[in-house]
Amino acid sequence: MDFKEYVRNIPDFPEKGVYFKDITPLLQDAHALSAAKEALLKMLGNQKIDKVVGMESRGFFFAPMLAVDLGAGFVPVRKPGKLPFDKIRETYTLEYGEDVLEIHSDAISKGDKVLVHDDVLATGGTASAVCKLIERLGGEVVQCNFLLELQFLKGHEKLKGYTIASLMKF
Ligand code: IMP
Repeated sequence: MDFKEYVRNIPDFPEKGVYFKDITPLLQDAHALSAAKEALLKMLGNQKIDKVVGMESRGFFFAPMLAVDLGAGFVPVRKPGKLPFDKIRETYTLEYGEDVLEIHSDAISKGDKVLVHDDVLATGGTASAVCKLIERLGGEVVQCNFLLELQFLKGHEKLKGYTIASLMKF
C-alpha cells in the first residue's frame, strides 16, 4: 500500500511558512488505518516490548493500538500540567524557544524495553526528549518509530545511537 496517498499537505498550518503533513486521511480510511498499524509492527520485528510510549497528541493515535498488539502497556508523554501524578520533565529547544514534556515517574520500570512512537519525526527534538525521560526512569529504548519522517530536518542526527524506523519518508 502506498501510504503517502493518505497524507495531505497543508500550507501555512499551524503558522505561516510551515508545510504541515496531515495524516487524518490515513486515520479515517479503515483499510489504511489497519495496514499502517500492521506495517509499524512489522518494522519492529519480533522484539519484546514492555511499554509503548506515545507523545501528545498525535502519537496517541497509534501507540495504544501497537501496545495492545504487542502485549505491552501504553504510556502517555504529555505537555506540562496535564499529568496528575508524580512526574519528571525534560525541557528541549525548538526552532524558536523551548518546550517541556512530562512522564509519570512510575510509568517505566527499571529494565523495561520501550518502543517510542510518534506520528512525525521532524527535527528530532521531541523524540530525543522522550528518550531521555525513558532512560532517566531506567528504561531501554528499543526503537523509535514514526508514521513519517521529514528527512530534510535531519531528525536522525539528533537521535544518533537509537534505532529509527519510519513508514514514509519525505
Ligand atoms: P520535532 O520535535 O521537530 O521532531 O517535531 C516532531 C513533533 O512535531 C511531533 O510530535 C509531530 O506531531 C509534530 N510535527 C512536526 N511537523 C509536523 C507535520 O508536518 N505534521 C504533523 N505533525 C508535525
